[in-house]
Amino acid sequence: MALSRGAVLFFKLLACLLCLFDLSHGKKQFTLKNLPPLRKASSYPTGCPATYDYIVVGGGTAGCPLAATLSLKYKVLLLERGGSPYGNRNVSYMENFHIGLMNMAPDSSAQAFVSTDGVINARARVLGGGTCINAGFYSRASSSFIQEVGWDEDLVNKSFPWVEEKIVQWPKIAPWQAALRDGLLQAGVAPFNGYTFDHVSGTKVGGTIFDETGYRHTAADLLAAGDPNNLRVLLHASVHKIVFDSRQGRLKPRAIGVQFTDENGRRHQAFLNNKKNSEIIVSAGAIGTPQLLLLSGIGPKNHLKSHNIPVVLHNKYVGKGMADNPMNSIFIPTRSPPRQSLIETVGITEEGVFIEASSGFGQSSESVHCHHGIMSAEIGQLSTIPPKQRTLEAAQKYAQNKLNLPKEVFHGGFILEKIDGPLSTGHLVLIDTDVRNNPAVTFNYFSHPQDLDRCVYGIKTIERILKTNRFSELAADGTGFSMERVLNMSVQANVNLIPKHTNDTESLEQFCKDTVITIWHYHGGCHVGKVVDQHYQVLGVSGLRVVDGSIFSRSPGTNPQATVMMMGRYMGVKILRERLGRAAGV
Ligand code: FAD
Repeated sequence: MALSRGAVLFFKLLACLLCLFDLSHGKKQFTLKNLPPLRKASSYPTGCPATYDYIVVGGGTAGCPLAATLSLKYKVLLLERGGSPYGNRNVSYMENFHIGLMNMAPDSSAQAFVSTDGVINARARVLGGGTCINAGFYSRASSSFIQEVGWDEDLVNKSFPWVEEKIVQWPKIAPWQAALRDGLLQAGVAPFNGYTFDHVSGTKVGGTIFDETGYRHTAADLLAAGDPNNLRVLLHASVHKIVFDSRQGRLKPRAIGVQFTDENGRRHQAFLNNKKNSEIIVSAGAIGTPQLLLLSGIGPKNHLKSHNIPVVLHNKYVGKGMADNPMNSIFIPTRSPPRQSLIETVGITEEGVFIEASSGFGQSSESVHCHHGIMSAEIGQLSTIPPKQRTLEAAQKYAQNKLNLPKEVFHGGFILEKIDGPLSTGHLVLIDTDVRNNPAVTFNYFSHPQDLDRCVYGIKTIERILKTNRFSELAADGTGFSMERVLNMSVQANVNLIPKHTNDTESLEQFCKDTVITIWHYHGGCHVGKVVDQHYQVLGVSGLRVVDGSIFSRSPGTNPQATVMMMGRYMGVKILRERLGRAAGV
């Protein structure tokens, strides 16, 4: 039936109005409908004839947005050593943050490691990487960081919202986080910059990847923004070697493929096609990437030879310049149990110290009676284990014993301080040639005196916060907290394997050194100008790039995940534009 001209006009007007309505409501709802199938590595056919334009190693914070973006124009294989985040309760629910970190199963989403400094740490082992096990806080790098690393600001400003509109929310601020916000302002960490993703001096509330129900959105979700027909994702695919063509006559060894092991221990190979610009991109994180380069024969030749690894390229800088921002925290007992919260508020001081907070673990019946997060800042609370006996096993046994403690002793929250851009750095070396095992990592926390000075500044800032009216009201008798008491409790609250000293509460320097733990923002190992060039292509070989936290000489923003995800998208767009020019369409 033909419509009258009037009716056509009416429908056109209606369509126009609906369109305006849609625009006025901003972004379109992002859905996971377009996620590519997530297949186990064992499904990869042996002698597979398929070849790829890009093989991305590591489906983590940077790897997922990168692979999704490249797949819009090219055939991409994404190899992730861990499993799927979907249907994994430890990943999906904020309340399980600590439970996930203490799961020691060989296929758990967090792989624990202890640095040679004696600090208990964790690295992701799941599709989505660190975004699946982290505390969810989302805050962009400062504009000076963007300028220092030489990124195109216009593209950066498009790449951040690309991530944000898909997986980032504003938190419904928890009481403990609101208390920190007020305490920071009363203590002079001003002005209040409201809710913002931007890195600005003062106090602010940042974004989060948890929604209002505590459900976690992750970098794995970003795969739904790719082309599922071009993107093949394999889970439980542990890449143990990059394959090079080092034939004589070649100017440089060329990366042509990878070898990986599936969940049943069977070995496979995958190769690039022979187009000039095809590449292997390693996004295996700040521990995984230097480890894989070393296992593949790129690194200090004596170290490689000591493990019988054939040398493809001698580079003494692989694994050097590893850094972890030291974190020290103060435990604050409260009258009643504060609601659980991870990080939502941050104080950004001019002195390069960031103040954040977490609360509410240990007092829920589930966490006292079931698990208490061996890797958490809260582990070891009220510990009676003598310092020298604090081995990982002793810490685990202590966690078991703690199940019997009355839940009232856990009422409280933490205020934590993190040093920006630590000047103390360390290194990573292989212990063995099994890619599933952790390498040995040393961070040398506080070996640089300026880092120690800033830690002391941070603790004094926390002291000022505790003296504000806002915090005095939270104390059991309403008269505030004695610093000596909270320092005493905090020495016992932070479990690391570093021997404690009797003057921990008299000397803040000693307190900092003895109670240092991690905020899991370790980075470095493949620095620009040493291991990779300005475009993150590995120096001295071709067809190989690194895109993840290992290229940073300083962790971006107050917390890095925003910038790492942005970098995955940014590098994907940059590579497409370099290959296709305007035809890239991104
Ligand atoms: P990852 O995200 O770790 O990605 C590396 C991926 O590579 C992993 O999925 C890994 O399984 C895979 N992989 C490694 N080796 C291989 C291999 N050989 N073969 C195949 N796959 C491999 N940041 C914030 O901004 N806010 C926070 O609140 C916050 N809290 C944190 C809490 C915790 C417990 C942790 C661990 C981190 C936290 N971070 C936080 C830091 C942030 O999550 C990380 O800096 C970031 O995720 C690192 O990203 P990446 O891409 O470098 O590495």
